[in-house]
Amino acid sequence: MWLVVPSVPTPAPRRYLSPAMPTPRRADTLSRLAREPFDLLVIGGGINGAGIARDAALRGLSVALVERDDFASGTSSRSSRLIHGGVRYLEHGYLHLVFEASRERRILLDTAPHLVQPLAFTWPVFRGDRIPRWKLGAGLWLYDLLATFKNVDRHRSLSAAGVLEREPHVRRNGLRGGALYYDAATNDARLTIANIIDAATSGAAIANYCAVTALTRDGARVSGATVRDAIGGGEFAVRARRTVNAAGPWSDTIRQLDEAGHTPGVQGTKGVHIEVPRDRVGNREAVTVISQVDGRVMFVLPAGADTIIGTTDTPTVSTPDNVRAHEGDIDYLLRSANGTFPDARLTRDDVISSWAGIRPLIASGSTGSPASASREHAIHSSVAGLISVSGGKLTTYRSMSAEVVDVAERALGRSPTRAITGTRALPRSDPDALIRRDVTLAEPVVTGLPHRRADFVCAAESEFACRLGDFMIRRTHVAFETRDHGRAAAPEVARLVAPVLGWTDADITRELATYDAEVRRLFSVDPR
Ligand code: FAD
Repeated sequence: MWLVVPSVPTPAPRRYLSPAMPTPRRADTLSRLAREPFDLLVIGGGINGAGIARDAALRGLSVALVERDDFASGTSSRSSRLIHGGVRYLEHGYLHLVFEASRERRILLDTAPHLVQPLAFTWPVFRGDRIPRWKLGAGLWLYDLLATFKNVDRHRSLSAAGVLEREPHVRRNGLRGGALYYDAATNDARLTIANIIDAATSGAAIANYCAVTALTRDGARVSGATVRDAIGGGEFAVRARRTVNAAGPWSDTIRQLDEAGHTPGVQGTKGVHIEVPRDRVGNREAVTVISQVDGRVMFVLPAGADTIIGTTDTPTVSTPDNVRAHEGDIDYLLRSANGTFPDARLTRDDVISSWAGIRPLIASGSTGSPASASREHAIHSSVAGLISVSGGKLTTYRSMSAEVVDVAERALGRSPTRAITGTRALPRSDPDALIRRDVTLAEPVVTGLPHRRADFVCAAESEFACRLGDFMIRRTHVAFETRDHGRAAAPEVARLVAPVLGWTDADITRELATYDAEVRRLFSVDPR
C-alpha cells in the first residue's frame, strides 16, 4: 500500500488563454499515474525516454513516463546540438551508423523544421593535417552516398580562396583548401520537450520531478516502480505490464534495482563545451576543426550571437550527477579554436559558460580511445522483464525508440505495429498567440537576447516547465548565454510565471535559491 500525496498548488493558478494545448495539471497526472494500470512505464525523460513514450502512445499503448528531474536535464541538454550523420564515425568505419543517422537527419528535417535546421560546415585543411584534402573529399563523397544523396545538398570541394570567402577569419598560414558539407542543428532540450508534448497529447501520463526509487514485482516479474514526487513529496506505485529503463547514463543504477551485480551496460565518456561571443571568433557558420593539440575532430558552431566550441571526449570516473568541466578542458578547447582562428586569441575571459555531459555509450570493455567507442545502441531484456536501452545518439533517437517499442509490444504479446513517427510532424509551441492578447509579453527578458516574456509564460502553460531552472536552462538558453547564468533575470521570470504555476512569495524565494544551486552545479568549473 502506497501513500499518494499529489501536490496541490495554491493559490489557484491564473491561465493566459493560450490556444496551445495546456499541460495537464500535475496533480491530475500524478493521480492518474498512481491509479491507472499501464501497458508501459518509461523511466527517464531524456530524448530516448521521450521518443519511446511518444512512439508507444501513438501505437495505442497506454503509457506512463516518469523523469526524476526535468525532461532533458541529463545528457539531452548537454549535446553539441547537432542532428548529423557523423563525419567523425566514417574514420572508425561505422558506416551503418552513418547510414542510419543520415536517414534520421532527413526525417527530422522534414518532420520538425522548426526544431531542426540545415547547417553548412566549412572544413579547412592545412598543410600537415592528419586528414589531407583527397581523403576529406573521398570521405565526404561517401558521406553523401550514405545519405543516399538526400542530405541538404552535396558537399563541395573548396580552394584556399573558397574557404576564406566562406570563413574569412580562418588561419591563412598553411591553408590548402577544404570542403563545404551539410548537417543540421537543433535545440536538444526543446526536441526532447516536443516529443514529451506529443506523447502527452497522444494520451501518455507524463511527469517530471518524479524519481523511481525501486522496482515493484508481481512474483518474479517487474510490475512497475515506486516513484517519489520531488515537488509535492510522497511516494506512490506506478503499475505497468512492462517497464522500460531509458535512464541514459543512469541506466545501470536502474538495472541494479532489478538485478544486483549485473554487468554494467553503459560506459560514460565526458564531453565539455564552451560558449563565447561569436564576434570574438568571427565564424560565419559551422567550422570543422582538427585540433592542433591532439588531432581530434571538433566543431566551432554558431549559436545566435555566440559560438559554441566542442567537444572534448575523455574517459571519466565522474558520475553523471557530479560531472563538471575542468579548467584543462576549457584550455584545450580554447587552444584548439585558436589554432584555426588565430586572430581571435581567445582566453578564459571570453568564456560565457562551460558545461559537461556524459555520453551513455554501450560498454564494450574495450580499451580503445573514447572517440572510437561505438555510438550504437543496445536493448537488453532482463529475466524479470525489465527492458533497458543504452547507447545511441540524439540523432537516432526516433529509430531507436521504434525498436524499443517493437520489443515492448512483443513482450506484451502483440505483434509489433508500425511506428508512425517517421512521417508525423513534431508539435510547435505558439507563444505569439499570447502576445496577440498582451503585447507586453513581446518584451525580451534579457536585453539583446531573443527570449521574450511570452516564451516563459508559454513554457509554464504548455511545456511542462515547473521549476525556475526548467525555464532558464531547458525551455530557453538564458543560463548558457549570460555570464551570470541568468541570475539577474531570474526574479523577473519567477514573478512572470508565478501566477500560472500558483507560486506564492515564499515559493519564489525557494525557487530562486534552488535555481542558484542548479546553476552552480551545471556551470561551475573544476580547477583541476
Ligand atoms: P539522458 O538525456 O541522460 O536521459 C536520461 C534521463 O533519465 C535523465 O533525464 C535522468 O534525470 C533520468 N533518470 C535517471 N535516473 C532516474 C530515476 N531513478 N527515475 C526517473 N528518471 C531518472 N548526439 C547527437 O546526435 N548529436 C550531437 O551533437 C551530440 N553531441 C553530444 C555531445 C556531448 C558532450 C554528449 C555528452 C553527448 C552528445 N550526443 C550527441 C549524444 C546524445 O546527447 C545522447 O546520446 C542522448 O542525449 C542520450 O539521451 P538519453 O535519453 O539516453 O539520456
